[in-house]
Amino acid sequence: MSTRLFPMFADLRDRPVLLVGGGEVAERKARLLLESGARLTVGAPELTSTLHEWLALGRITHLPGRFVPAWLQGQRLVVAATDDDAINREVAAAAEDCNVFVNVVDDASLSTFQVPAIVDRAPLVIAISSGGVAPMLARHVRERLEATLEHSLGPLASLLDAFRSRIRAHFPDLPRRRRFYESLLHGKVARLVEQARLADASAALASALVSPPADIDQRQGHVTLVGAGPGNPELLTLAALRALSTADVVLHDRLVHPDVLAKARRDATCIDVGKQGGGLHVPQEHTHRLLLEHARAGAHVVRLKGGDPFVFGRGGEEIEFLHAHGIAYRVVPGITAALACAAHAGVPLTHRDHVQSLRLLTAHCNTGYSEQDWASLALGRQTLAVYMGVRELPAVRSQLLAHGASPELPFALIENGSLANQRTVCGTLGKLVELASLHTVQSPALLILGPTAALAGSLHWFGEPPLGHEAIATAPAVHDPRPAKTGMAVMRSRMAPTRAPAGAATIA
Ligand code: SAH
Repeated sequence: MSTRLFPMFADLRDRPVLLVGGGEVAERKARLLLESGARLTVGAPELTSTLHEWLALGRITHLPGRFVPAWLQGQRLVVAATDDDAINREVAAAAEDCNVFVNVVDDASLSTFQVPAIVDRAPLVIAISSGGVAPMLARHVRERLEATLEHSLGPLASLLDAFRSRIRAHFPDLPRRRRFYESLLHGKVARLVEQARLADASAALASALVSPPADIDQRQGHVTLVGAGPGNPELLTLAALRALSTADVVLHDRLVHPDVLAKARRDATCIDVGKQGGGLHVPQEHTHRLLLEHARAGAHVVRLKGGDPFVFGRGGEEIEFLHAHGIAYRVVPGITAALACAAHAGVPLTHRDHVQSLRLLTAHCNTGYSEQDWASLALGRQTLAVYMGVRELPAVRSQLLAHGASPELPFALIENGSLANQRTVCGTLGKLVELASLHTVQSPALLILGPTAALAGSLHWFGEPPLGHEAIATAPAVHDPRPAKTGMAVMRSRMAPTRAPAGAATIA
């Protein structure tokens, strides 16, 4: 059973800790505890030679013999590292009785605290826990972090510590101090530490205190319009991540996933300015007012939007407004729903042989985009990606059919694309409405219409296989006499006619 553990780092300096066990494993734990400055008592009938040495040096105290609950008297923490299951259980039970936190090595079920895998860049330490559920995974993550985090982070942290009070005194104002720190971390000082030139780094830091870089004194704030992608935080760009981690204020849409918001700087103010799709009135003026207010107060404002800010995201209106008010802005593109859904459903949006263009459109009636040129949308050799369409599926189908699209035109309807709860429903235009309601597809969902949508049945790789695709896979081929075994064969069989013969444009 997984438990969400409370992460914490304990200050054990000069605090009494009991270690039960005197073998190799206990010795490893003892080393860690001593490095943390704990006042360590080791209870065991016998000790390893190293533990004996530490005893002789006065680094540990020894309680000889088998564990008794009285050993717990006055201890802050206890670690059970014996190879005797019964003793480990006794220690755990006794610790529980006296409200002492206990760790039983390699037994999460008996432990009330766990010792995480760590990446050590002391004084910077990164602790990783899987809540005892998947220690191998935690180790894997640790290896990845080990490989990506410079070892110079340790000395850099020490250098910053040495200057901490001087920096605080020079920059009592927090936003200004933060900008100063950022200039250190991304500039010469960090580079010099990486090059193992600690004295030069220290001198550079001292001189930066006297004459700080000009850009930290910018009082005027600025806005970064950031595309948050479809919700899966893996699909954020590096630029988006960086903007979030330096934001003072985040104004976000409701569609922005909480996992993405969690990437924002801890003490940034997050304000929800979104309305669910279909809301009658989106208070855009309110968002504009907030953008202006916070930017004028000197904040770095991140305007975070689902997908890409310039695809049905009103990003254009917002930068027009900022431009008119003389506020500096930047735009960070995001992965728009069409790209994310197509990728995660296994639906190529173009295909050299069959599909030469891609059209992004919205079916949402209130946006004013709904006056579409249906005749051109009904033409073949293109992919339509329809946003905000869940409620408008009947209208989309009847318009397309009325303008000559084939009821056999494949579709893939992707709900929560790229997220763990992604669902894909596949079929043909003629059955679009029925299949969507059979599987109760809900917003946010994206409709992909076009020959390649049929490929989702065979090329899907993410989440559950598409629903409803069996109907396509077993349908007889129209033009290809070979059995429709693969997705490609299915696709070819569905390629023509993308325009239905006259009279065939009825709802299937
Ligand atoms: N700017 C956004 C679109 C905003 S409109 C972008 O570039 O993606 C909102 C519509 O986007 C939703 O109604 C839905 O059609 C689509 N959408 C957004 N996220 C989605 C997701 N994870 N899965 C499926 N569709 C999504």
